[in-house]
Amino acid sequence: MKTVINEQERRNFAREVESKLHDKLAKCYQCGKCSAGCPVNFEMDFTPNQIIKMTELGMTDRVLNSKTIWLCVSCNTCSTRCPKGFEVAGIMDVLREIAVNRGIESKTEKEVQTFHEVFLDNVKSNGRIFELELVGKYKLKTKHLFRDMFLAPKMIEKGKLKMHSDKVSDINQIAKIFKDFE
Ligand code: SF4
Ligand code: SF4
Repeated sequence: MKTVINEQERRNFAREVESKLHDKLAKCYQCGKCSAGCPVNFEMDFTPNQIIKMTELGMTDRVLNSKTIWLCVSCNTCSTRCPKGFEVAGIMDVLREIAVNRGIESKTEKEVQTFHEVFLDNVKSNGRIFELELVGKYKLKTKHLFRDMFLAPKMIEKGKLKMHSDKVSDINQIAKIFKDFE
């Protein structure tokens, strides 16, 4: 009986990912072109194409606890290279969100995970990035209050760190996008 439940859970995981991704995992035929072009694959514990296959097989724990999903920098190189037009970069986004929603904390990439959460909160409340708030919240959460502080005056001088938020005019549209994704 337990095996049946596990099999069902495996299938449910793959279906959940497909539904959030709006793409089919079976499209991937494991040619590896995505992984060959990924600029950070040397740091990953599983290559992007391995993550796709493991997701299809419902290997939930290994996928959601992998370093790979947090090390992906969303550069989109993989999706551009894929001969099948599969949303490789998108699957990393989806898996990160599922991990956050399930309360899974990365054991090795905690700071990346924190940045991801603070980044999304920032977009949610401003409709775009407000760097000063982003950096402030990130530093408070990670307790690295003074790291890189010397860069702040230079960034302000070059206009890279604005002192006020330029919120988008229709913030409700942003809320709707987040709600649709959830
Ligand atoms: S490039 Fe596309 S088809 Fe090839 S392994 Fe990556 S996702 Fe699969
Ligand atoms: S989007 Fe992520 S997985 Fe794809 S190439 Fe860039 S870093 Fe690698």
